[in-house]
Amino acid sequence: MDQLTHRDIADAALATGGVLTVDLGAIRRNYHRLRAASPNSEVAGVVKADGYGLGAVPVVRALLAEGCRKLFVAHLSEALALRPIVPADVDLIVLHGAPPGGEAACAEQHIHPVLNSRAQVLAWSSLAQRTRTVLPAYLQLDTGMTRFGLSESDLPWLNETPGVLFGIGLRCVMSHLACADTPEHPANAAQIAAFNRMRKALPPLPASLAASSGIFLGAAAQFDIVRPGAALYGINPVPGCGNPMERVVRLDAVVMQVREVGAGVAVGYGHTAVTERPTRLATLAVGYADGFRRSLAGTAAAWFGDAPLKLVGRVSMDSMVVDATGMDLFPGALVELIGPHCEVDDLATNAGTIGYEMLTSLGQRFVRRITE
Ligand SMILES: *Cc1c(COP(=O)(O)O)cnc(C)c1O
Repeated sequence: MDQLTHRDIADAALATGGVLTVDLGAIRRNYHRLRAASPNSEVAGVVKADGYGLGAVPVVRALLAEGCRKLFVAHLSEALALRPIVPADVDLIVLHGAPPGGEAACAEQHIHPVLNSRAQVLAWSSLAQRTRTVLPAYLQLDTGMTRFGLSESDLPWLNETPGVLFGIGLRCVMSHLACADTPEHPANAAQIAAFNRMRKALPPLPASLAASSGIFLGAAAQFDIVRPGAALYGINPVPGCGNPMERVVRLDAVVMQVREVGAGVAVGYGHTAVTERPTRLATLAVGYADGFRRSLAGTAAAWFGDAPLKLVGRVSMDSMVVDATGMDLFPGALVELIGPHCEVDDLATNAGTIGYEMLTSLGQRFVRRITE
């Protein structure tokens, strides 16, 4: 990842509290790492929630350039927004399926819904019959996540109700693992077994089960199509083991003020912190509205060079104060919040959450910088 220029720093200081750098080259390499990890499967890309907060449009362009031919989003609105940049021969798939009344818009834009319920199956086949077309779709089975998909007890209905699948061009049967980030969890084998059993009640179709962590459960979980999101963006798919993915995100915050205070000075909301000795404090222009949760209080949340800067007092909405004693910090300088010294997963652990939530809550206020 290349260095920040003076121009980037000036932009950030003028416009926002920091610079969010997204390394598209790292996303491309992560895509190929996931291909290598699942050599017998097609690797789709999950780009919901604006590409996990990093910008769906540049992420989609990068994945398409690497040969990705299936893209998943959560909502129809996300698919409609991406449709102009996704070629017609690439499957654009909506995990939540078409919302009631949105089926026609979905079909017109050649977006494939995931059919998650009897109601969604019926609505899709009735549209196909009304328009006398075959409408492609993915079918989801619930194998133990208990969230989306037809249950095992729905399968006789699917097979025995005349015309229920009429007009639906099923492209893929899919399910989702609940505990894939815990390889030893017995639910993994149970869900794989349920998926194999339930698939037998359907016509032979390409199958998809694994998301990022599922890929690393090995061949039995991979099936024909894998659907990674988080791992593309550098989140560790194998928590507790070394991260096999490359870091994608860097976040630097602008220093707004530096002040010297004596001992016994209270800092921030609630006066929860009081200095114990003469202290140099730096106020950073990033707060909980930028995804820097209040639960980070007390942790080292920023780095200046190799030196950690510990949070002092509470995180505010748009700022936070760090201890910069002995450091040559000045207003307008940038300090690292996410980067080589603090991976997004480390920051998430400090905040009491997971990398997924950290990335998707970073917010829209940063200057965004794309590197290749
Ligand atoms: C979000 C999601 C994915 C991607 O999951 P990651 O853990 O980010 O790889 C795959 N499949 C479904 C159904 C999802 O909801």
